[in-house]
Amino acid sequence: MRLSRYFLPILKENPKEAEIVSHRLMLRAGMIRQQSAGIYAWLPLGLRVLEKVQKIVEEEQKRAGAVQLLMPTVQSADLWRESGRYDAYGKEMLRITDRHEREMLFGPTNEEMITDIFRGYVRSYKDLPLNLFHVQWKFRDEVRPRFGVMRGREFLMKDAYSFDVDQEKARAAYNRMFVAYLRTFARMGLTAIPMKADTGPIGGDLSHEFIVLASTGESEVFLDKDILSLPIPGEDTDFDGDLSHVIDAWTSHYAATDEMHDADAFAAVDAGKQEQARGIEVGHIFYFGTKYSEAMGAKVATGEGSEVPVHMGSYGIGVSRLLGALIEANHDDDGIAWPMSVTPFHVGLINMKPGAETDPVCDALYKQLEEAGVEVLYDDRDTRAGAKFASMDLIGLPYQVVVGPRGLKSGEVELKTRATGEKQMLSPEAALNLLIEAVKAQG
Ligand code: ATP
Ligand code: MG
Repeated sequence: MRLSRYFLPILKENPKEAEIVSHRLMLRAGMIRQQSAGIYAWLPLGLRVLEKVQKIVEEEQKRAGAVQLLMPTVQSADLWRESGRYDAYGKEMLRITDRHEREMLFGPTNEEMITDIFRGYVRSYKDLPLNLFHVQWKFRDEVRPRFGVMRGREFLMKDAYSFDVDQEKARAAYNRMFVAYLRTFARMGLTAIPMKADTGPIGGDLSHEFIVLASTGESEVFLDKDILSLPIPGEDTDFDGDLSHVIDAWTSHYAATDEMHDADAFAAVDAGKQEQARGIEVGHIFYFGTKYSEAMGAKVATGEGSEVPVHMGSYGIGVSRLLGALIEANHDDDGIAWPMSVTPFHVGLINMKPGAETDPVCDALYKQLEEAGVEVLYDDRDTRAGAKFASMDLIGLPYQVVVGPRGLKSGEVELKTRATGEKQMLSPEAALNLLIEAVKAQG
């Protein structure tokens, strides 16, 4: 992409309304624009990251056996009356009346709708296990939307719903999502720790929040530091097999949010390994049994001739919130430093003197990189070098290639690694090869 033809509205000043660094940097880097409180337009740069995050989430859901569909944002109030949540949900639900005076709502979540879809078609235990997911915009009329996309009113969520014939099988479904979540966040370069979470009136131990540690996080958390060095399940994980050993390994170390904190259990952790920190909830997995299937009549025939309400779980990931979490985890004083897996472009190519001898070198590099599948943002604008450098550092592409008349005298360009600041002079061919390899290594 040539920057001269792109839409990258960078802000020079720090926006006053932004209280935390990720919000500030998303506004300054031209990724989002607030349209109403907690409601954002996704500008081109922000959209590219959102799409990459979404793609990783989708790939790992599918790897774990979940099947993608797409449910609408607008739902009928009647469905929510069946579960009893229409009245229970309160002011967070955005309620809408259509031209026929029918009560509708903008979905804050989809348990009711997916249960309705399920009961419309599935009759037998033979069709189970089943896990259906979508990635769709949600609306929650939060009292205090803040921190940009971290706590929005309109936000993008991945929500999956599992259906099983009994609790034991539902537990296996839960385990698959647990492992899928470990993989998903790790692929983004994030350490998200599963922490015991409140299960509400249903009880049991089948609810975990996945928390990314960050000083700006809204949750207070307590953990055994050993959990930070546990291995992430690999690509070859057998999702048809028993995954309980993975879950056991992770849940044997203390990790809890303040709601579930047990001071005595925490005190039993080695003093040097106790950590009290803050974190961002990026995902939440939850087994809730037959709560919705009983209320809404979603039953399946068992092998023994009886019918039982299906056992369900739901599994959310805050796709848009993840962008905030990613920036909280990857930035410095100059701006963002994206990990390769989610970066909007892999490389920023800076032409120091458009209209001069740097043009043919830049144009050739641009073409060769793009042809090799390397995503390039090519700064071909005729503006001040200082401003170009500052913008590139701000938007945080992992690599920068600077092509200037001086370097070209000795046939070299400069390659800068954004995260470390490391710079090296290379021939354009060497820079090209290095970048192609870096993208390949990413997969
Ligand atoms: P929170 O405790 O942060 O309000 P929640 O427990 O109500 O979240 P869930 O219903 O578990 O949220 O939703 C699944 C995921 O969606 C959360 O883990 C979070 O990552 C994301 N999410 C929830 N609310 C918001 C919001 N207002 N803005 C952005 N993301 C959100
Ligand atoms: Mg939650």
